[in-house]
Amino acid sequence: MNNYGINIWSDNNFIIEDGEVKLNFKSKPSLLEISKDIRSAGLKGPLLLRFPHLIKKQIKSLYTNFNNAIKENKYQGLFGAVFPLKVNQFPHAIESIVTQGKEYSYGLEAGSKAELILAMSKANLNSKITVNGFKDKEMITLGFIASSSGHNLTLIIEGLNELNTIIEVANETKLKVPNIGIRVRLHSAGSGSWAKSGGMDSKFGLTSTEIIEAIFILKNNAFLDKLSMIHFHIGSQMNDIAPLKKALREAGNIYAELKKMGASYLDNINIGGGLAVEYNQHPHAFTHNYSIEEFSSSVVFLLGEIMDTKGVKHPNIYTESGRFIAASHAVLIAPVLELFSQEYHEKFLNLKKNNPPLIKELLELNKLLDKKTSIEYLHDALDHQESLFTLFDLGYIDLQDKSNAEILVHNIIKKTLYFWGFENSKELEQLQAKLQERYLINLSIFQSLPDYWGMEQNFPVMPLNNLNKKALRAASICDITCDSDGEIGFNPNKPLHLHDIDLKKDEYFLGFFNIGAYQETLGMNHNLFSRPNEYTIDIDENGYNIKNIIESKSVLNILDDIGYDKDEILNKLKADILTSNFIKKKEKTDTLAKLDVYLKQNSYLRTTN
Ligand SMILES: *Cc1c(COP(=O)(O)O)cnc(C)c1O
Repeated sequence: MNNYGINIWSDNNFIIEDGEVKLNFKSKPSLLEISKDIRSAGLKGPLLLRFPHLIKKQIKSLYTNFNNAIKENKYQGLFGAVFPLKVNQFPHAIESIVTQGKEYSYGLEAGSKAELILAMSKANLNSKITVNGFKDKEMITLGFIASSSGHNLTLIIEGLNELNTIIEVANETKLKVPNIGIRVRLHSAGSGSWAKSGGMDSKFGLTSTEIIEAIFILKNNAFLDKLSMIHFHIGSQMNDIAPLKKALREAGNIYAELKKMGASYLDNINIGGGLAVEYNQHPHAFTHNYSIEEFSSSVVFLLGEIMDTKGVKHPNIYTESGRFIAASHAVLIAPVLELFSQEYHEKFLNLKKNNPPLIKELLELNKLLDKKTSIEYLHDALDHQESLFTLFDLGYIDLQDKSNAEILVHNIIKKTLYFWGFENSKELEQLQAKLQERYLINLSIFQSLPDYWGMEQNFPVMPLNNLNKKALRAASICDITCDSDGEIGFNPNKPLHLHDIDLKKDEYFLGFFNIGAYQETLGMNHNLFSRPNEYTIDIDENGYNIKNIIESKSVLNILDDIGYDKDEILNKLKADILTSNFIKKKEKTDTLAKLDVYLKQNSYLRTTN
């Protein structure tokens, strides 16, 4: 039975039990149960569920693994970490990160003014704030204000001009000077699709010559005692650990050299993020080749070795892993609205009194087919279909005959598949891939899975129920935007098979997993679909508790957001109804009320699901 690779990507966070996906935690609620619970109030459209216990698990895993490696290697520095806000800035994700991280003094990383303000308002006071990215004088001044307000903040410079601005601000104000870090530009590059953050051609960091110059400037201005950290980041979702080791050797040696040049207060090395998450759901296609255990022990061992060789005290190690912390905590749930091939249902057969001989044969094959005869009959049916299509092209049969032929052949293929499955037959598998079913889901890929569209990043996807039944439909998934890129096509190398569902009788939901990193702010309002309804789910021994509900924006508010005047729009539509000669007087109140409801709802479809 297909488990959708849950053993590969879910890190035991989810399990399949009684045919449903459940959270593998305390009372083990099923995702279907939670979704139905939320939707029982009449809500439609996609749901974003956050699970704070999964954030806690990842923070704990990061700290425990590094602290174990430190113990095992008798490493003398400490371990610390910050969460990079660009990965997920949303209030209820950050709330969990800050609360769950408190006991570890887990800090925050900011890459822009807005993120810095957020960090200053949310960070636990004894935790570190690191500031990366390009900074102007205002942003640097904000760093001074944060330090003076009691934060342990490090401004990591991306260039010498930033260092000069820091000195300028220090001379102009009496505010407390923050710690200074240097981002080093490494000659060793990263790995993975996001590997543009390291390497000589990187957008970021100081070259060796600039680092020497920076030390000179710091010394000359009596600021060398503010230099406390060197930093590098070789890119996100590192698929291979080898480039990290190279980068560590280079950065470790830079650190040791700086100590020798008199940077006596320097005591932190910040290795950035990049720790990968498994998004793949097929055994042959793992996206990364190391575990958190290997990652942490490699970092600790290598840095220890470099420092011992150079006779330098072991630095504290900081990481800025974001994807690893946030990805697993959020699940996106999308109702399936339609299966497109249902128009091939036998009930649409419209037979004539006198059918063409080949149609009669197809009818016989369809009636008599059993497990033993199915493969042979299937071949006959495919052959007949070809002939019937030729007859149609030549004008010998009509559109009704063609439709009947398509329905019958479709049925014969489906029956054969149910008898045999496709595990053991290449032919049936290929046939199945051709007969793809398109599942229309009430979701926008541009809004909720932007990296699928922009980076071809796959996210694990599976149905929430029916998991004790065979899924035999080769599935492609279409969203409700009218953009043809809003589709997750069937890939025969990484096939997705879903169930044949009669949506008039049963609901069917797809869950997209590991979507808690980067997707939310990168998502866009293409076709003016807004963010999905969002919920935080706390799970305990007895059940679960739904809190922090944020509703998807209404149609009017989305228009308002992009600069329209919502009152003007509302008044115009109302006036048009009131003056219309086509709407009878009696019906006007009713129509106005309908309009009011529609404009105050989100723009997701409200048909059946
Ligand atoms: C993006 C970024 C990170 C986070 O990377 P992940 O791959 O999400 O761990 C860390 N540090 C810096 C400087 C970044 O730009």
